[in-house]
Amino acid sequence: MLLPEPIQNLITALSRLPGVGPKTASRLTFYLLHAPDEVANDLAAALVNLKSGTTYCQTCFNITAAGRTECEICANDSRDRRMICVVEEPLDVLALERTGGYTGRYHVLHGALSPIEGIGPENLRIRELIERVRAGGVEEIILATNPSMEGDYTASYLRQQLQPMGVHLTRLARGLPVGGDLEYADQNTLLRALSGRQEMS
Ligand SMILES: [Zn+2]
Repeated sequence: MLLPEPIQNLITALSRLPGVGPKTASRLTFYLLHAPDEVANDLAAALVNLKSGTTYCQTCFNITAAGRTECEICANDSRDRRMICVVEEPLDVLALERTGGYTGRYHVLHGALSPIEGIGPENLRIRELIERVRAGGVEEIILATNPSMEGDYTASYLRQQLQPMGVHLTRLARGLPVGGDLEYADQNTLLRALSGRQEMS
């Protein structure tokens, strides 16, 4: 091995991150090696806290600070309880919150259905969503899964499950880039898609 093990270990660990190739991983590693101690120490502490300092909201499964049972949105009484926006990932909540145009609540599935990858309803927070609706008080559900094949498939599966429960179902309007990710949509596009949401028939 040409490089000392601690250096090689960090390069390997960073290379596993999405969007980071071996070159970037090497560059980051050598940057940290030469940077003041506190830069590397702060990063190490932040990584450790990332897992120990966070948990999932027990209502909507958004990410929240450890020790809380509900996220800030669920705990906020001014958020409309009659409306639930269903998204794939916590980052989608962030994207929709940035539009400032949504006053309801959320439900985070933590993925989308994908028969090819073997992801079924039991791997997502679908049962919990159905329980929330069954508990009553929900009038509209906005199916805001990504405009991708898996996202569309997930939305139509949820429609089948939720329609018999007499809840009003809508889907974000088209105009979002097909195959894209909600989290990368710009605020205006997302706001338009939200206000132009359509009845699911
Ligand atoms: Zn929540």
